[in-house]
Amino acid sequence: MESLVKCPVCGNPDFKTYLNVSDYFLTRENFSIVSCDHCSFRFTNPRPDASELGKYYESKDYISHSNTRSGLFSFVYQNIRKFTIASKYRLIKRFAKGTSILDIGCATGEFLKYFKNRGWKTIGVEPNEKAREFSLNVNHLDVKDEDWLKTSPQQKQDIVTLWHVLEHVPDINRRLQEIRSLLKDDGYVFIAVPNADSPDAAYYKEHWAGYDVPRHLYHFTVKTMEMILTKHGFQCIEKIPMKFDSFYVSLLSEKYLQRKNHWIRAFISGIRSNVKAKRGNNYSSMIFVAKKQENFK
Ligand SMILES: [Zn+2]
Repeated sequence: MESLVKCPVCGNPDFKTYLNVSDYFLTRENFSIVSCDHCSFRFTNPRPDASELGKYYESKDYISHSNTRSGLFSFVYQNIRKFTIASKYRLIKRFAKGTSILDIGCATGEFLKYFKNRGWKTIGVEPNEKAREFSLNVNHLDVKDEDWLKTSPQQKQDIVTLWHVLEHVPDINRRLQEIRSLLKDDGYVFIAVPNADSPDAAYYKEHWAGYDVPRHLYHFTVKTMEMILTKHGFQCIEKIPMKFDSFYVSLLSEKYLQRKNHWIRAFISGIRSNVKAKRGNNYSSMIFVAKKQENFK
């Protein structure tokens, strides 16, 4: 285990325990989420060393609920995935000045394949070897491992995307610097993360599936995401709700609680979360659309 001695966002050394959470998904081990006294950024601390992190991903479920399973859940999941990929495509088209896209944490590559089929120049980055091979061999995509990001690739991108990925990245500051240097000056980055200030997070508390410790190292709010983007020379220009996530996260949270009628409870929780979130634009998960700040550094 490794303890951070400074807040990754502001560098302050003082933080308090915010919540104790178990790894309900896999190991049942207990972890603490701390909150920075200065900037209120929340992060899992202590956390597994880089060398230990791999074992927390060793589940068939984690790579994908994707390509092989049958049954109602899989059918619903796959159709929602198709719908969400199409809506992400429409969203990105609204901003893009060109047609090159880099997806960091592309998993098995279904999102990038959708773009490639529409004539985009695509690159993926994926640390998981099995997922990377699937995207190479089955989806025929150009996919690199994470070390590629450190090689300062010369080709700049119109669009960089991270769909529920940034909360997993051990060196978040370095990753945001890499993203900035990979992005064209008129490019856009799209970062989707769970929102730890959402109504469903408040409702489920330590059972909220969005915490997903220790795989999730950071527990962003709208405020702290905007802070870390600003720190790295980005300007957040739009915050977009992901309204299906409240249902999915509620369903997992109900599973962790082991209550009866978990499908019905999750459905009600998902609706309630979306209704409550409307006023403060504080949904279960949010997409942050950002561009480079002018005159940064
Ligand atoms: Zn801080």
